[in-house]
Amino acid sequence: MRGVRVWARLLGVERTVVEDVEFDEEALVVAVRPGWRERRRCGLCRRRCPGYDGGEGRRRWRALDLGTSRCYLEAEAPRVHCRDHGVVVAALPWARHDSRFTRSFEDQVAWLACECSKRAVSELMRIAWLSVGRILTRVAAEKRAGFDPLDQLVRIGSDELSHRRGQRYLTVVVDHDSGLLVWAAPGRDRKTLRRFFDLLGEERSKRIELVSADGAAWIEEVAGERCPNAGICLDPFHVVQWATAALDEVRREVWNAARRAGQTAEARSLKGARFCLWKNPEDLTARQQARLAEIARTNEPLYRAYLLKEQLRQALKLPVDEALELLERWLAWARRSRLPAFVKLAQQIRAHLSGIAAALGFGLSNARTESVNTRIRLIARRAFGFHSPEALIALALLSLGGLCPPLPGRS
Ligand SMILES: [Zn+2]
Repeated sequence: MRGVRVWARLLGVERTVVEDVEFDEEALVVAVRPGWRERRRCGLCRRRCPGYDGGEGRRRWRALDLGTSRCYLEAEAPRVHCRDHGVVVAALPWARHDSRFTRSFEDQVAWLACECSKRAVSELMRIAWLSVGRILTRVAAEKRAGFDPLDQLVRIGSDELSHRRGQRYLTVVVDHDSGLLVWAAPGRDRKTLRRFFDLLGEERSKRIELVSADGAAWIEEVAGERCPNAGICLDPFHVVQWATAALDEVRREVWNAARRAGQTAEARSLKGARFCLWKNPEDLTARQQARLAEIARTNEPLYRAYLLKEQLRQALKLPVDEALELLERWLAWARRSRLPAFVKLAQQIRAHLSGIAAALGFGLSNARTESVNTRIRLIARRAFGFHSPEALIALALLSLGGLCPPLPGRS
């Protein structure tokens, strides 16, 4: 193999001519030019166009390190005149439009951002986390243009999600059948969700059979107006979340009462009891089981609240007829429970009963929605350093929407 072809292989570049290689201080600089078929194409639509000028002259693109050395590609970046896009920098086969990194460098960053910690990505690739955000946005936009995840939708779920410490919100749409995140946008209101259905269009909206939500009136309203053939469901996962919140309210009340009465040991034990009350009983450790048994013995209202939450969770796992029958009995029990939080919860569930019944009737997989929800929340926490919601959305779509590129050279 001749020297220049070895270099092209090492750098993972295609349709590119390697002209020269030299060390510039600590970095390797490889002079390149596009192959002749690649020249004078519009950077946006890749159509061949007349040249315009030399642009900013010679520029550098950061490439993947070679061994222990940083590496840059260096080339002219002339501008062309496209009849649709006006004067733009010409397309270059080794980099995405408007990027100072090579394509394989960006693909590797995207893959790492889906798999590793923030710190690992920044340190390994020697770039700031903010640059990672911009790279993810470019990679996700390109992958998104390649296929349309909205084509196969039949059963979808919509939800809102807070990020930036609860100050900002996203509206997300999940495909229940593939378990993939298919759309996300900043905001949580009717206008935001209508943008999703505008994108989906009338024909595809007609094919939607089920829309699940967290009981938010605005989601149900927009789904109702745009999807004429869909059952509007309340995701059972959210019902269990409501019950967990009610249980926590009861725990806080008995804890405050114990503190006020000066029962410090009792108060301390209740404070620590939070996790054993929250967890599913099958996941409890031996110590947590012992603590739960102690609550059963010493704190009757709190244990009653725990049983109410658990029975509701179990009921929602049953086939629809049995679940609804048990739910009726549960509602009567909760109403008589003398626990204000559960009396209120019973009213809330009663108001949403048809939505819950619809979800159970469709056999909506609770576990899958819950896992997508949990994973999006984890990503929102990791993406905290990004300043734009676009970077967070890009990371979510890459890791949960099936858009993550393979590592360079491994496809
Ligand atoms: Zn163009």
